[in-house]
Amino acid sequence: MLKEKDKIFKNIYGYDDWGIEGSRKRGIWSNTKDLIAKGSDYIIEEIKKSDLRGRGGAGFPAGLKWSFMPKNSGKPHYLVINADESEPGTCKDREILRNDPHLLLEGCLVAGFAMQAHACYIYIRGEYYNESSNLQKAIDEAYVASLIGKNACGSKWDFDIFLHRGAGAYICGEETALLESLEGKKGQPRLKPPFPAGAGLYGCPTTVTNVETVAVVPTILRRGAQWFAGIGNPKNTGTKIFSISGHVNNPCNVEEEMGIPLKELIEKHAGGVIGGWDNLLAVIPGGASVSLIPKSICDNIKMDFDSLQGVQSGLGTAAVIVMNKTTDIVEAITRLSYFYKHESCGQCTPCREGTGWMFRIMKKMIDGNVQHEDIDKLLDVTKQVEGHTICALGDAAAWPIQGLMRHFRPEIEKRIEENQQRKAVA
Ligand code: SF4
Repeated sequence: MLKEKDKIFKNIYGYDDWGIEGSRKRGIWSNTKDLIAKGSDYIIEEIKKSDLRGRGGAGFPAGLKWSFMPKNSGKPHYLVINADESEPGTCKDREILRNDPHLLLEGCLVAGFAMQAHACYIYIRGEYYNESSNLQKAIDEAYVASLIGKNACGSKWDFDIFLHRGAGAYICGEETALLESLEGKKGQPRLKPPFPAGAGLYGCPTTVTNVETVAVVPTILRRGAQWFAGIGNPKNTGTKIFSISGHVNNPCNVEEEMGIPLKELIEKHAGGVIGGWDNLLAVIPGGASVSLIPKSICDNIKMDFDSLQGVQSGLGTAAVIVMNKTTDIVEAITRLSYFYKHESCGQCTPCREGTGWMFRIMKKMIDGNVQHEDIDKLLDVTKQVEGHTICALGDAAAWPIQGLMRHFRPEIEKRIEENQQRKAVA
């Protein structure tokens, strides 16, 4: 269990002042100039040594990603913060934006300097009204206090932060769709390569990164990479905000040690599963786009990137959706299929046609109104979508269904047989 002294997010529940005075008392903006004075290479090396992995879902090593930014491109460099938090079940960045916005802003300055960016755009989910309001006030406070703007924090580095509100499309959380949207175009993902580090915002070198990833950077630099790397497990280090929702007694966001056992996370922080642990059916451990895991796996699984990948699921955004035995698991996954069908941008055929087709078959499966061979046909379609699209939404639509079939196929077969019996009687 994470010790109180190792917590990075000290105002996650908003009990304290989120403004500049309260933030300073929590140590934010205390020696930012000294952190910057250590130099760009030092900062990137420290982040590499800390083994910080991106908190937006993919879990890519953050320091390595930042090192992809060119050294002397002759073009402006941009830092873009992805605050378009829209993955069903995920609500961790919301708490940072609303209750500790200066933590993010300080991280933007340090990370932006490390990648030699003078401008940072924060792309925030449009529905996050209170969060964008607090964040804008925090940005204004930081300008007045000369923490950002010309000669930010007295570092001789000029750094501007702009807040941009999205308009409600899930796909704008995909980094290149986000850049398109920021440029004023329709939010559709770009073909890669080129990757944003080579040609991103306005064709210039850009790093797009998640709110939580950037918010932890100043603390890592203050306390040292070794401290961060010492929390959790090798290659799965540091603290993590988990969003726990669904059939638990106390749904919550909580900062914990990476790699905490799932059972401990749910029982210690979320008041346990409604009806007790034995009433657990399954958990989606990382937001809607990862495969569910049944209770037998939940009993012992650790909540980190590699452990969950090892059971064909993923840590994703660490949004833990708990389902007890009152859940109609087929209907629950069908609901997710509807979501992905609705949010497909329609640009590539396997996703545009496949998500609709998968949803329609899933809907029939709720009542068992299909044939046995349709299960394999559906799985075959998920395989034709997975890995054959421009962006990861195609995979995200396929994986929940694959997870359902992997662990609950007998449930669907039972429904098909019951439906056939009903028809025979009628
Ligand atoms: Fe659009 Fe889907 Fe293709 Fe992504 S995978 S680009 S959402 S059609």
